[in-house]
Amino acid sequence: MNIVVQKFGGTSVRNLECQRQVMQKVLRPYREGNKVIVVLSAMSGETNRLLALAREWSANPDPAEADSLVSTGEQISCALFAMLLKQQGISCRSVLGFQAPIMTDCAYGKARIMNIDETRIRAMLNEYDVLVMAGFQGCDDGQRITTLGRGGSDTSAVALAAAIKADVCEIYTDVPGVFTTDPNMCTDARKMDSITYDEMLEMASMGAKVLQIRSVEFAKKYNVTVHVRSTFSDEPGTVVTKEDATMEAALVSGIAYDKDQARITLINLHDKPGVSAQIFTPLAEQRILVDMIVQNPSKNGKTDMTFTVPRADVDQTLKTLDSLRYEVGFDELDSNLNVSKVSIIGVGMRNHSGVASRAFRALADENINILMISTSEIKITCLIDDKYTELAVRTLHKAFELENGPLGKA
Ligand code: ASP
Ligand code: MG
Repeated sequence: MNIVVQKFGGTSVRNLECQRQVMQKVLRPYREGNKVIVVLSAMSGETNRLLALAREWSANPDPAEADSLVSTGEQISCALFAMLLKQQGISCRSVLGFQAPIMTDCAYGKARIMNIDETRIRAMLNEYDVLVMAGFQGCDDGQRITTLGRGGSDTSAVALAAAIKADVCEIYTDVPGVFTTDPNMCTDARKMDSITYDEMLEMASMGAKVLQIRSVEFAKKYNVTVHVRSTFSDEPGTVVTKEDATMEAALVSGIAYDKDQARITLINLHDKPGVSAQIFTPLAEQRILVDMIVQNPSKNGKTDMTFTVPRADVDQTLKTLDSLRYEVGFDELDSNLNVSKVSIIGVGMRNHSGVASRAFRALADENINILMISTSEIKITCLIDDKYTELAVRTLHKAFELENGPLGKA
């Protein structure tokens, strides 16, 4: 049997009218004779409403009960949608996480999928033409309900597609696809036809909030092609897939930014073996995500060390470092909260020189000062004063002619 997996987000299922549009999307593969697995999110706003309720009832909600509570959002949308389909005479049923079952670890609120029993799902597909499956939720060994973290329905859908070896997982949302940059910042932003997993991981971690990052990691690991597209149009969206020859032709695929950054500098740090470990181990233990680490060459056994952390973690980072001042040995701690990261992303830059210099020239022409630079194989990131973020994004988008289609052909 041929199985199609389709996932619909919260705005797509938010009311009866939208669910009728969703039904049209589901009816297409159904009428072509496919079995369909429809994965749904909670109606938009519902997960937030439930989380707020939990906080009203308890200052510190029990994690397992919180998951039991928030998972009801998906139960509601699935039951309602299955009613709609049944009314059309379609053989279907709703399937909750514990019924599939989608087995997870017991990290409530951020559970990881451990196993999906493909035989059970196939058995249900023998009986029904459409399964309406709850996203975002699973079940642990102790038969308790778990949830996968915000945006987790994307990961549910990709994991189901991987488990039943579907060719494609279609993710329907309220935007037409993945853009070359944030369209709210740059009116020239263009929908991409395709993007590689690695590029998408870079775009997503930099704030292109179309897919939960974990779903892209999952898709990459199990080689599931993900098609992100709009519920409210018939246009094809953006295909997230493994790298192929034509993708390599594009030098730069997109520009991402992250305004949620802060810079921390340790001045006159003793330069001896083990200092970096002494600094970064306690930060890692507190799960602070450190990025863009730069250490200057040392003079007279002293050096400066600069790195970035999420803005919300600045206070905790400074407090931790201050407590290490004598143990590690440094003179001063300096921080700057008014910085942002702007990144140029593209698998094509792997084999081409000149991308960095083109980017630096473009920023220089706009008088934007670069505070720090870091690079990976497929990304160049510049830390800049955050008041120039929008200008920098537009400047770089233009410098690589991203408005013109698969661009910057090598
Ligand atoms: N309903 C969950 C959330 O709002 C999961 C999802 O929509 O993907 O985060
Ligand atoms: Mg989402």
